[in-house]
Amino acid sequence: MPLGECLINSHRSSLQTQRYTEREVGHVAVFAVTDNIFGIDLYEEGRPGRSCAYVIRAREPVLVETGSARSHPALVKGLEEVGVYPSDLRHIIVTHVHLDHAGGVGQMMEVSPKALLHCHPRALPHIIDPSRLIAGAQAVYGDQAEDIFGPVKPVAKERVVAQGDETMLDAKGHELVFYDTPGHAKHHLCVIDQSTGSLFSGDTVGIRYTRAYTGWPFEWGFPTTTPSDFNPDVLLETLDRLLSRRPRRVCHTHYGVTEPARAAFDFTRRGLQRIQAMMTRLSETSTQSEVQSLLTSTVRQELDAIGHPEVDVGAVALDIFLNSQGILVYLQKRAVGKL
Ligand SMILES: [Zn+2]
Repeated sequence: MPLGECLINSHRSSLQTQRYTEREVGHVAVFAVTDNIFGIDLYEEGRPGRSCAYVIRAREPVLVETGSARSHPALVKGLEEVGVYPSDLRHIIVTHVHLDHAGGVGQMMEVSPKALLHCHPRALPHIIDPSRLIAGAQAVYGDQAEDIFGPVKPVAKERVVAQGDETMLDAKGHELVFYDTPGHAKHHLCVIDQSTGSLFSGDTVGIRYTRAYTGWPFEWGFPTTTPSDFNPDVLLETLDRLLSRRPRRVCHTHYGVTEPARAAFDFTRRGLQRIQAMMTRLSETSTQSEVQSLLTSTVRQELDAIGHPEVDVGAVALDIFLNSQGILVYLQKRAVGKL
C-alpha cells in the first residue's frame, strides 16, 4: 500500500460515505504522510483523488494549498478529521495562484483568523486583488469558471507574506524552506519541510494520477503544461535545483505522495522530454486541435512504453485539453521572443 493511502482514521466521515463509489475502493479522504503531516482530499471537480491539501501539525499548524472555493467544505471537514481546526492554523501556504490551488484562499483566511498567508512575491498582488485571476480562469474555462472553482475572495494585504527564494519559516517543530520554482507558473513556489524531507511541489514535479481519478488499475505520472507560463527549459532547470536539495518524498497537490522523491522527478522529466520531442513537429501557427491530437498520441506512447497500451486515455482528456493550450501558448510566446 503506498504511503499516501494509509487510513489514519477508521471512522469514515459522512463526506467519504457520501462520495464513495465501488470504483474508489482503497481511496481515502484523509491520509497520513508522516506522524505529523496529513493529506486531505479536496474533491476538486467533485472527484476523488484529483487534488489534495496538506496539513503539518507543527506547534504553529500549517496548511499547504486551499484548493478552490468549491473545495472549502471538504477541506474544513478533512482538517477536523486530523484534529486541526481552521481557527488553529497559523500559516497557510499556496504554491501558486491557479484557482485549483488558491481559489479558496479568501474563504480559508476568513475562518482562520490567526493565520498568515504565505505566497510567491508575484502571487501576492493577485491574492489581494483576484480580478485578473478570475479573468484568466474565464479565458481558459469560459463561462464555466465560477461553476468549477466557485467565487474568489480577496485577502487583506496585511495578512499576506511574500516568500522569496530560500526564505525560511519556523513553524515551531517544522522548519520550512521556500523555493522560487518557475516553469509551470512564474508565481510558483515549492516548500521543503527540513525535518521530514517532504517537498510540497504544487504543480512543479508532475501530476500523480490516482486510480480513484482515472479508473485505471495503476498510478501514473506526467507533467502538467497548463497555460500561461509553461516553459519546459525553465521547468527542467527547476527540477534539477529541487532534486539537488535531496527531498525524501514529493507531496503532489495532484495527488498524494511519491516516495522516493526521485521517481516523481523521473516521470516528470521523461514526460517533458517527450513533449519537447513532440514540439519539434509543431509551431506557433499550429491549431489547438493539432496540438491536442499530437499530445494524445504522446500520452498513448508513454503509457505504451510503461506497459499499459490498453487503457482509455479519455480518462485524462481534460488535462490533455488544458495541457495542449499551455503548449500552444508557449510556442506562440517563444516565436515572438516573449517567454
Ligand atoms: Zn494544479
